[in-house]
Amino acid sequence: MKITEHIKKAKGETLFSFEIVPPVKGKSIQELYNNIDPLMEFKPPFIDVTTSREEYVYKEKDGLLDKKLTRTRPGTLGICASLKHKYDVDTVPHVICGGFTKEETEYLLVDCQYLEIENVMALRGDARKEEKYFTPTKGGHQYATELVEQIQNINEGNYLHDTIESSDLSSFCIGVAGYPEKHMEAPSLQSDLKRLKQKVDLGADYVVTQMFFDNQKFFEFVEAAREMGINVPIIPGIKPIAVKRHLHLLPQVFRVDLPQDLIDAVEACKTNKEVRQVGVKWAIQQSKELRDAGVPVLHYYSMGKSDNVKAIAKELF
Ligand SMILES: Cc1cc2nc3c(=O)[nH]c(=O)nc-3n(C[C@H](O)[C@H](O)[C@H](O)COP(=O)(O)OP(=O)(O)OC[C@H]3O[C@@H](n4cnc5c(N)ncnc54)[C@H](O)[C@@H]3O)c2cc1C
Repeated sequence: MKITEHIKKAKGETLFSFEIVPPVKGKSIQELYNNIDPLMEFKPPFIDVTTSREEYVYKEKDGLLDKKLTRTRPGTLGICASLKHKYDVDTVPHVICGGFTKEETEYLLVDCQYLEIENVMALRGDARKEEKYFTPTKGGHQYATELVEQIQNINEGNYLHDTIESSDLSSFCIGVAGYPEKHMEAPSLQSDLKRLKQKVDLGADYVVTQMFFDNQKFFEFVEAAREMGINVPIIPGIKPIAVKRHLHLLPQVFRVDLPQDLIDAVEACKTNKEVRQVGVKWAIQQSKELRDAGVPVLHYYSMGKSDNVKAIAKELF
């Protein structure tokens, strides 16, 4: 079922969902199941599976370091199919521009059709670790808008080199990213919102936001988006802080601000176990306020470990 249909069916009740990251190549999928199992009692209608782009790995060869470009966390679509089959849940593969040609993207989307995966998140992806700015892959897309267009074209039967007259067209429900504190490269929140509007005008059906720790930022973002004519569901993304290092890492990687109360509470912790408790408590408060404000879904960034997301879900769902 489409995410938008799940939201409609819930008739105003807030749904629970989460995002997982594929394991590093060679690791068992069982570890992933072990983390998902405890969350299934909260009946997520959908689970997102991220896609990581290629990165350089270094191997020693004849006393020299050999540099190779590889995808260390492959398997997004395989995991989506496997979770769908194992838990009877909708899965949302993240489709990214970086590292993929348009042909490869088309191939992936056709696989999604055969697997009856009806939802996809269309994202640009970040720059490669060693690059300062995002460089489009040769034969790939530069912006998520172009990817949304490609998916929408396929929904209309327009493939890269053919127009297919078919009675069995796909109708992917398309999610896109939104940034309550603006995307790091955008010159202003307003210009970033204009880009978001373009994605929606081109066919995006819903928005999932970057993590944020101050609900006020989300509420203002939704208000500004509505004023701009963005009328699709906007799903907040919530990340419980789990280690002290997050105080510096999250602002650096995701360009988000942390409220002073949260910083003080984390700094007062003596162990990361205590930090985890602070993170859960903060996320519960955030989630309750968002639910009371009527958000359609609370979407959690689980980052591989589910105990904290379970503790939050227990209080809300
Ligand atoms: C919910 C969520 C899930 C994510 N999942 C993944 C994942 O699985 N894998 C991964 O690698 N990354 C993921 N990301 C990170 C995301 O890929 C990065 O934040 C990336 O830098 C931007 O992606 P985007 O889709 O928002 O890009 P875009 O919408 O293309 O925007 C990128 C930047 O370009 C600007 N822009 C857009 N269009 C134009 C234009 N035509 N001209 C000039 N400027 C323009 C925007 O304002 C913005 O600053 C996720 C992010 C979110 C919020």
